[in-house]
Amino acid sequence: MIRPILIHPDPRLKKVCDPVAEITSEIRRLAEDMLETMYDAPGIGLAAPQVGVTKRLIVMDCIKEGPPEPIVLVNPQVIWGSEELSTYEEGCLSIPDQYADVKRPAEVQVRWTDLEGQPQERQFAGLWATCVQHEIDHLDGKLFIDYLGPLKRQMITRKMEKLKRERARTG
Ligand SMILES: [Zn+2]
Repeated sequence: MIRPILIHPDPRLKKVCDPVAEITSEIRRLAEDMLETMYDAPGIGLAAPQVGVTKRLIVMDCIKEGPPEPIVLVNPQVIWGSEELSTYEEGCLSIPDQYADVKRPAEVQVRWTDLEGQPQERQFAGLWATCVQHEIDHLDGKLFIDYLGPLKRQMITRKMEKLKRERARTG
């Protein structure tokens, strides 16, 4: 089921999310819905708070061509980041049509729990590294525009407020 994606500014996007205590059928359904919502958007990553669920769960698939490679990360944690940084032009499904360069560690080691409740660990590089850091930021109430200067951030926030007013008017 496709769930509506919250648009910034929204208090639910600013919250520090709660850890997932147990993999229940509700959590499995949430992960499935989030993947469907992400592919439909389309996007390469989605965090639970973006569909209004303030729990520590993200989904990703950074494969642009070829068979899909969906992954679901429950309670993900960056346990190591490279000193080397890389810059990507980032966007966000909660901040439609706005893009800006963000600098982050080029490679990260991430630990998480999968939907079977098993611990997983993997090193991400390239677009995957940027995406996983962007999505984990969401779980701490942080958006990519928080890396920008205040003027740029305010400009984007005002555009989003306007977009939300327009959408509310047209339904
Ligand atoms: Zn985002």
